[in-house]
Amino acid sequence: MSQPIRPPDSPLFERLWQVQSGCCALCGKPMPRSRFEVAHATIWKRERPTFDHIVPRAAGGPDREDNLQLAHARCNRRKGRAQA
Ligand SMILES: [Zn+2]
Repeated sequence: MSQPIRPPDSPLFERLWQVQSGCCALCGKPMPRSRFEVAHATIWKRERPTFDHIVPRAAGGPDREDNLQLAHARCNRRKGRAQA
């Protein structure tokens, strides 16, 4: 997978966003909700919320809501590398 999944404006995204109060599950800092909340597209690219698998798919983690959380794109990528 070359790029993390971009969360669509889906009910799942909405539920996770509410549960986490808009904060990253990995670093705990707030995430921008939309591209218009950040000054530059490059910042959005790093900080945008992405779906993160709590148990990685490589380790058999399912594609289900109870195995998903929202995290910054940069945090998600860092985690992926650490486990690879
Ligand atoms: Zn983060």
